[in-house]
Amino acid sequence: MPLLEGSVGVEDLVLLEPLEEESLLRNLQLRYEHKEIYTYIGNVVISVNPYQQLPIYGPEFIAKYQDYTFYELKPHIYALANVAYQSLRDRDRDQCILITGESGAGKTEASKLVMSYVAAVCGKGEQVNSVKEQLLQSNPVLEAFGNAKTIRNNNSSRFGKYMDIEFDFKGSPLGGVITNYLLEKSRVVRQLQGERNFHIFYQLLAGADAQLLEALKLQRDTSGYTYLNQEASRVGGMDDASNFSAVRSAMTVIGFSEEEIRQVLEVTALVLKLGNVELTDEFQANGIPASGIRDGRGVREIGEMVSLDSAALERALCSRTMETSREKVTTALNVTQAQYARDALAKNIYSRLFNWIVNRINESIKVGSGERKKVMGVLDIYGFEILEDNSFEQFVINYCNEKLQQVFIEMTLKEEQEEYKREGIPWVKVDYFDNGIICNLIEHNQRGILAMLDEECLRPGVVSDSTFLAKLNQLFCNHSHYESKVTQNAQHQYDRSMGLGCFRICHYAGKVTYNVNSFIDKNNDLLFRDLSQTMWKARHPLLRSLFPEGDPKQASLKRPPTAGAQFKSSVAILMKNLYSKNPNYIRCIKPNEHQQRGRFSSELVATQARYLGLMENVRVRRAGYAHRQVYAHFLERYRLLSQSTWPHWNGGAREGVEKVLGELNLSPQELAYGKTKIFIRSPKTLFYLEEQRRLRL
Ligand code: ADP
Ligand code: MG
Repeated sequence: MPLLEGSVGVEDLVLLEPLEEESLLRNLQLRYEHKEIYTYIGNVVISVNPYQQLPIYGPEFIAKYQDYTFYELKPHIYALANVAYQSLRDRDRDQCILITGESGAGKTEASKLVMSYVAAVCGKGEQVNSVKEQLLQSNPVLEAFGNAKTIRNNNSSRFGKYMDIEFDFKGSPLGGVITNYLLEKSRVVRQLQGERNFHIFYQLLAGADAQLLEALKLQRDTSGYTYLNQEASRVGGMDDASNFSAVRSAMTVIGFSEEEIRQVLEVTALVLKLGNVELTDEFQANGIPASGIRDGRGVREIGEMVSLDSAALERALCSRTMETSREKVTTALNVTQAQYARDALAKNIYSRLFNWIVNRINESIKVGSGERKKVMGVLDIYGFEILEDNSFEQFVINYCNEKLQQVFIEMTLKEEQEEYKREGIPWVKVDYFDNGIICNLIEHNQRGILAMLDEECLRPGVVSDSTFLAKLNQLFCNHSHYESKVTQNAQHQYDRSMGLGCFRICHYAGKVTYNVNSFIDKNNDLLFRDLSQTMWKARHPLLRSLFPEGDPKQASLKRPPTAGAQFKSSVAILMKNLYSKNPNYIRCIKPNEHQQRGRFSSELVATQARYLGLMENVRVRRAGYAHRQVYAHFLERYRLLSQSTWPHWNGGAREGVEKVLGELNLSPQELAYGKTKIFIRSPKTLFYLEEQRRLRL
């Protein structure tokens, strides 16, 4: 048990003494400086991104962690993966591994470490290996289409991912199911300075051979494409061309046919070409502004590549048909509207393509429903986010994190309670902040913010972001976790930092101000029907299948669920799924903003520690007993403290522990004897034991 040894801080924050934010940070920093990037809070692993390859991974380390129990080796993601996998295999308990943290903190790398650990230990044989290969190869494919270089992370996942890996009763993998959340589709048409579009676009241009480029009518140089930021086309250390061939072969391993791969690339190329369709001002005879297409060549190329009528596409981009029960009315779009329509189409095509790819992978890796399965879920999802300007996206992400925090507290407490029950020890009640009130504020079916937003989106008449905000202000002016300019004025607390078009939510992790601008639009997520119908008419099987609502026979007047409603229901499904499993947590932290090794900014880490609720976690975890250990292990370590047990002891482990502790005159409240474990209430007692031990060595 190396929990306390050395000068690299405690390996388990439960043992921090005194427990304060400052000591917690110092401990993490001290460890980080010694390249100890992992630290526990009980069975939670905190991981601080090292930004360098450490020699602590690979087969040798996997073998080590496979043979030891949790506390015998240094904290490691492998230890967590091992406990989870063994408990799944031997105790038949479904597991989930929840990985959170902000962008660049190391979530995706952590999820890959978990996957590779499990793949290495979970059975052998040709069949099994081919399943493993498919599961592992889903990563490069999803990363190509769903990751991008951002300011914070050169390989940033722009979607949330939950993957169930399914096993047979012996613990060999059978397959899996991937669920994706909220691809950041605005990136398709626009990127911040210094950021890139999704990797696949650059990979395709750099890696396609001349023949493929010719077939897709693409040019190799990224500078020809409006949708690709010009000042950031390369990422240091990333080889787009060779990644392209890796992605293609990964797709083949997963089971995509050559034909499917070709169609996927055609749709990808289509998006690039759409960005180059230039719209210009035109005027109708009556002087009303309209729009046109500057050079028909791009639209014609698109038409040829995916077999659609380019004249129809032109019409659909520049005008809009409204259907009432009696008639069809076509109105011209002005340039701004037409550009908006074009970009909306590009975003829709790409995000639907991404969903299609996820589904296609699932088809390959899915397991027949007849089989009895054990499941390990791995969740890699964006953490709590506070940007300078927070919009709808941050709102739903933070909502998801609020829900995850709820799961976390409830499940951690439940697990503690269960262990006490198993061990026959009385439960000590723990006070904690219940964030149910915030979840409710957002998700309540009739009176939540999301419901209000939907109501506003569906309401006939003039709706706007500001009518939505007015409604919130009216409804929640007395809510303890809601603030706005209006409610603040009522309380005479004038805050210049909040604009009129904003509301603020007091999340568990801190206050976030959201700007309502474009909430309605993003929630509606509408694509003009002219465009979906044009896409559906393409004689391109993949493209066509992405727009089922374009089928006139399908065109019911019922509108699809809003983006908010969709997200809420997928979060609900996720929560239900997580509650049915045994949770394991990896909390990822980014040590600095510069993607640099060795730099630890306490301020930055402090914020993340707050967002991750680490202090609360430690408090809950040691509310009862800070430390516990099975009798045999405990005795082995401390039996030298008593003459009855040292050098020889022939009795049982529990009796031995009673002898050792009995002689030390500890306060009875400090100890509890469970069925298989000794429980120690405060870290001080453990330190005392350690010190006594050192004195005798
Ligand atoms: P997130 O998914 O949280 O946004 P990533 O997992 O993509 O972050 O990590 C960002 C980058 O940090 C990686 O591309 C890698 O360079 C580095 N990194 C993360 N975890 C590790 C690790 N355990 N060892 C070495 N480098 C890491
Ligand atoms: Mg990621």
